[in-house]
Order: sequence, then C-alpha cells, then structure tokens
Amino acid sequence: MARRKMIYEGKAKILYEGPEPGTYVQYFKDDATAYNAEKKAVIEGKGVLNNRLSEFFMIGLGQIGVPTHFIRRLNMREQLIRQVEIVPLEVIVRNVAAGSMAKRLGMDEGTALPRPIVEFSLKDDKLGDPLVPEEYIIAFGWASQQELDDIISMALRVNDYMSGVMHGVGIKLVDFKIEFGRLWDNEFPRLVLADEISPDSCRLWDVETGRKLDKDVFRQDLGDLADAYTEVAKRLGVMPSNVTHRPKPTLIN
Ligand code: UDP
Repeated sequence: MARRKMIYEGKAKILYEGPEPGTYVQYFKDDATAYNAEKKAVIEGKGVLNNRLSEFFMIGLGQIGVPTHFIRRLNMREQLIRQVEIVPLEVIVRNVAAGSMAKRLGMDEGTALPRPIVEFSLKDDKLGDPLVPEEYIIAFGWASQQELDDIISMALRVNDYMSGVMHGVGIKLVDFKIEFGRLWDNEFPRLVLADEISPDSCRLWDVETGRKLDKDVFRQDLGDLADAYTEVAKRLGVMPSNVTHRPKPTLIN
C-alpha cells in the first residue's frame, strides 16, 4: 500500500498528510534528542508512551475548555490532528527553578518561584531557540498582542490543569514547554494548543523522593528513560498493555 505523503520530520515526531483536508497524522518516533540534538538515542517504546500521554493531556485540556489540535488517537504511535499554522514560539511555563533558568540566574534547582512564570523562546534550532522578550514577539510580528495575551492565559490554564493532575499522582510539575497554532475560520485565526504534551517537554519530579521522571533522565544519564515515562503513564492510568519488554537504548551517532 502506498505510504502517505510526509509533510515534515522533526526530532521526535513525523507529520503525514491526513485522511481529510485540514488534518495531519502525527507519528511519535522513539528517537530521543537533547542539547539541540547533540545527544541522540533510540528509546524503544518512548513514542508509544508519548502518543498515549499526549492524548491523555490534550483530551483532559479539551474537556476543561482549552482548545487543542487533537482529534483522536489512531493507533499505538499515531494521532489525527488538525492542521494549524504553528506560532514560531516555544512557550515555557515554570513553577520551580530548573534547567536554563536556574543556570542563567544562578539559582538552585528546585527553588520554588514566587508565581508561575511564562517565558518565550523563538523556535529556531540554528540559533538554539533563544529566549525572546514579549516586545520582540510583537515588533517582529511572530504573534499579535491579542494572540500573546491569549497564549499567556491559555498557558497558565494548562499549567493549573497539568499541575493538579500531576499533584494527584504524587508528581511535581516543575516546568514545561508548549506550542500554539492558528486555525483559520474564514479569515479569522483562532489559537489552539498544538504539538504535544509529554515527559519529553516537561520536568516532572516525584513529590516524595525527587526522582526525575522526564527527559532529564536521558539528558543527565540518570537511568532508563522508558522506565521513567512508564512510571508516569502507570500513575495516570495511561498504560498501553503491550509495552512491557524493552531492550536497552541504542546510541546512534
Ligand atoms: N523544553 C522543550 N524543548 C526545548 C526546550 C525546552 O521541551 O527545545 C522544555 C524542557 O523539557 C523543560 C522546559 O521546556 O521542561 C524548560 O526548559 P529549559 O528552558 O530549562 O531548557 P533546558 O534546560 O531543557 O535546555
């Protein structure tokens, strides 16, 4: 059977043409990358887990009124999504200092922030996704002021929802990255949550032990990444039945 047309291949996902106009099929790969793809590996089962977890969060967010690109999961590795025009920003929400913020400001990882902080990076791998102030976003037209206001309020709603869901299963949501897309209704754009929400793009720490259950396990060689993601999926009751045996990750240089 002829394979669908590939639209775009990213580091962790592939987009294919969808079955109807205005749709794409989003395929979750097992590839893991870190440090702007300087470190790479194949983690068997990661794509299956992220497909399930992203489905779980997108459906939950949809149910509380946050619009998303998600239509339905098609199979173990694929979901049907709406075709959107991606806003070229990585929207990062932080509850606790970690990663680049802790480094930039000389803060101890784990310091609680006085309130959730929303920041933006320009989506540009060649430039290493630089942090950009809101003024740049408006001046360069990456998003309008109205869109930026909507992005911030949706990002904070996503944070409240995700923090609550994670707290319920003994996990602290330290920070996460999301992306937004424009859906065109005639000539009017409407913003929806796009891309994915998975442990690839969140920091998740066990409340009791501080164990990391996210991509930092891979970034910092802290153990088996698929085990960490499986733990998150199990706690949330999102556990695909046939991901049990996994060989160790294979390095691809
Ligand atoms: N993040 C991401 N993709 C990126 C950069 C960051 O998903 O290209 C996520 C990252 O996993 C973390 C949050 O955004 O949950 C904040 O990341 P940070 O700015 O601390 O950068 P990092 O330390 O990951 O380089």
